[in-house]
Amino acid sequence: MSTSLLQLAAANLKKAVPLMLKYQIPTTPTNYALWYAYVSEQNPQLNAELDATIKQNQSCSPVTSELLFRKHVADPVELDVRDMRKNLDAMVCDLSQSLKDTNSDTATFQAQIDKDFTRLADLENQGFSLEQVIGVVRNIVKESANIRSSTVSFTQQLQKAQSEIDSLKTRLAESEKDVLYDALTNVLNRRAFDEDINAQIDLAPEGCCLILIDIDHFKKFNDNFGHQLGDLVLKTVAKRVQEACRDGIKLYRFGGEEFAIIVPKSQLRVARHLAEAVRRALEKLSVKDRRSDKVIDSITASFGVAQWQPKQDAGQLIEATDKLLYEAKRLGRNRVMPISS
Ligand code: GH3
Ligand code: MG
Ligand code: MG
Repeated sequence: MSTSLLQLAAANLKKAVPLMLKYQIPTTPTNYALWYAYVSEQNPQLNAELDATIKQNQSCSPVTSELLFRKHVADPVELDVRDMRKNLDAMVCDLSQSLKDTNSDTATFQAQIDKDFTRLADLENQGFSLEQVIGVVRNIVKESANIRSSTVSFTQQLQKAQSEIDSLKTRLAESEKDVLYDALTNVLNRRAFDEDINAQIDLAPEGCCLILIDIDHFKKFNDNFGHQLGDLVLKTVAKRVQEACRDGIKLYRFGGEEFAIIVPKSQLRVARHLAEAVRRALEKLSVKDRRSDKVIDSITASFGVAQWQPKQDAGQLIEATDKLLYEAKRLGRNRVMPISS
């Protein structure tokens, strides 16, 4: 093998490795051979097909890679470059391992890559004079410096990709939060409620209590002071109720001006007391309407409280609680039903 062919091999390697990293192609011997053939631009058909695959998928699946390799690369005519390819394959495997190891130690990486190239040169040295071999190795070492810098820059790109993935994960976690929380009041939403109540009834129904809360005559806040003030009342109420919920007791926005509290593993008496405490806290609540400067201190709510009964499903527990809430409304509002337990 001539010096120039080796130089060409090194140059192609330099081109192929970054592409494989970019498209997240595993550095298997087959893939390396495929991408080596690609960058050497000796088979337009292969390049066209690989380009199309990458354009469509931003990558090339193992199956497609294997098919392309068989169709275009593992051609008998190319058998004579097979040995060289094998050497390069082995080297690239080492290279990618080195790339992994090198994040913290570029010096070790340099030594490794130099060793790889030297070994390759050794394998190819039959028929070369010592001088020629040294010349080849020198060239390769020079090339390796370039490869190293391009690999290091790709390490940086990989790190950048990693931090992009991290920020994507954060955004995903945030959007998961969006999925479970109500944007206006910041308490858990109906979807979270449905999930939690069903899970609670499935897994630990014994003593599970439900409190449903409905703000009294809420419509009048909207009608008299506008929707924005209505929103402010909702936010203030949610905040106040949330403050009363501790130790695994969760608050949810159940609907428009309705809230739900799940009290797991409890007694109806305890849940009733909580509802009563919340009722009194809301009674004391006041918000100021910025437009009219009026203080609104007539906020009250009605409550239904029920405990899970054997064989009840979540829907039945909700229904029973809702009936009690309706009773509280019917009896004049601003009260907790049942009256005692
Ligand atoms: P009741 O004492 O019988 O519960 O009377 P109410 O006026 O509270 O009940 P009703 O169900 O008739 O009215 C609820 C109102 O809540 C109607 C709806 O326009 C309003 N509402 C629902 N969601 C929101 C919201 O997010 N913001 C505001 N400002 N109003 C809302
Ligand atoms: Mg209502
Ligand atoms: Mg209401």
